[in-house]
Amino acid sequence: MIYFQSLTQEELAQLLLPVSRVTTRSGEMNEELEKKSVKRAQYRAKQIFHWVYQRYVLEWDQMSDLSKDLRTWLKENVEIYRLKETVSRQGLDGTHKFLWGLPDGKTIESVIIPAALQEKKNAFGNAPDGGSFEIDQDDEDSENSRGDIEALKGYRKVSSPTKSAFAGRKASDSNLSSESWSRLTACISSQVGCAMACKFCLTGVQGLDRHLQTHEIVTQVHELRMRAPITNIVFMGMGEPLHNFESVVKACQIMLDQDGMNFSKRKVTISTSGLVSAIEELGKRVDVSLAISLNASNDEQRSQIMPVNKKWNIEALMTACRNYPLGSHRRITFEYVMLKDFNDTLEDAARVAKLVRGIPSKLNLIPFNEHSGSEFKRPNDESVKKFQQYLLDRNITCTVRISRGRDISAACGQLRSLFGSARGTDKHRDRSEQQPQA
Ligand code: SAH
Ligand code: SF4
Repeated sequence: MIYFQSLTQEELAQLLLPVSRVTTRSGEMNEELEKKSVKRAQYRAKQIFHWVYQRYVLEWDQMSDLSKDLRTWLKENVEIYRLKETVSRQGLDGTHKFLWGLPDGKTIESVIIPAALQEKKNAFGNAPDGGSFEIDQDDEDSENSRGDIEALKGYRKVSSPTKSAFAGRKASDSNLSSESWSRLTACISSQVGCAMACKFCLTGVQGLDRHLQTHEIVTQVHELRMRAPITNIVFMGMGEPLHNFESVVKACQIMLDQDGMNFSKRKVTISTSGLVSAIEELGKRVDVSLAISLNASNDEQRSQIMPVNKKWNIEALMTACRNYPLGSHRRITFEYVMLKDFNDTLEDAARVAKLVRGIPSKLNLIPFNEHSGSEFKRPNDESVKKFQQYLLDRNITCTVRISRGRDISAACGQLRSLFGSARGTDKHRDRSEQQPQA
């Protein structure tokens, strides 16, 4: 059996070609008929993509415009993959976290993170409760998000929301319908665990278990979309997406495919700890937005918390960012996890300002989300604000991301460590061998 979600539209058409042959009455083939057959297979692939990704139909027999023969063949050869929901938890701020059980007993996490329109409306992107949540979106994106919801309308039967309908809602609204939020971001995992061993990260502490396959990545979004009208995707769950390069690239192609999930390139963001050679390759292979986990203001500091920096230092990383094909009106997001008494001084802010100068970018400050796997502490709000103000004063777009869903352990790797297959700190030992060589 082949998993449907592991295939791009082109690959599905290839697969369908032998069962889509058009021949003469006597069963012969010629060049013209060969072309017809290819067209037929392509058309069928498109139909199936629409059924599954845009109409959420998961039974071959319900795809009424496919021939009976084709449906029988599909039933025997192609499986539409489902993820098993083991735990799901909703936080007071609307964040909704899912733990999925995989057939081999492993578990992975995805999170739906809603953003209320009113959060975006304030100066500096600050939410009324003192923080803001921004991942990859530019300010003009609220219009586009609405466009996405419009696009989903036909399939999910959601009503067309207006700006005022969004603006009136509180950030504590836990309803995931499209009327409540300006944006619903799916934060998805690319690996079971992670090999990169960042010191502050619970997934890093757990080590790498295995890569996720394309269908396991794509299906996270598909499952979430069956529950809520997702508008954005970020690879900020468990794992280093660029360490699982081929599967992630293919998953992105399916997400961007207009006949597939039909996300715009601005709405799909890959977040990386900085695998420079893979960043270069990514730009050639698929057109998605990029987030970089900078997390430090100089090499010495960065190498202490992110081993990847020993292979590719900040200068190499910044060069890759400068060369990344962004196109017009797009910016790279730099994420900066703020660790108390480690990287949270104004000297750090000054160095960060220098590093990002000249790169179309925005900065996301993320006050550390404390957990038992790390000694680091979260800085107080005052020093986070000062750090942010320093950057804003230098005309650097900078938002503070409140760690959403703290009441439901929604930070990277935390739900899995409570309920899932995480093997704890004994995985530490092998981490150096697991570092990607790319
Ligand atoms: N591996 C990728 C994507 C997953 S991590 C990457 O590192 O970019 C997503 C983000 O969560 C990263 O920016 C990481 O720095 C941040 N992060 C990890 N653990 C965190 C914690 N305990 N508190 C706050 N942010 C954390
Ligand atoms: Fe992996 Fe990202 Fe966590 Fe680092 S921060 S260990 S790269 S998931």
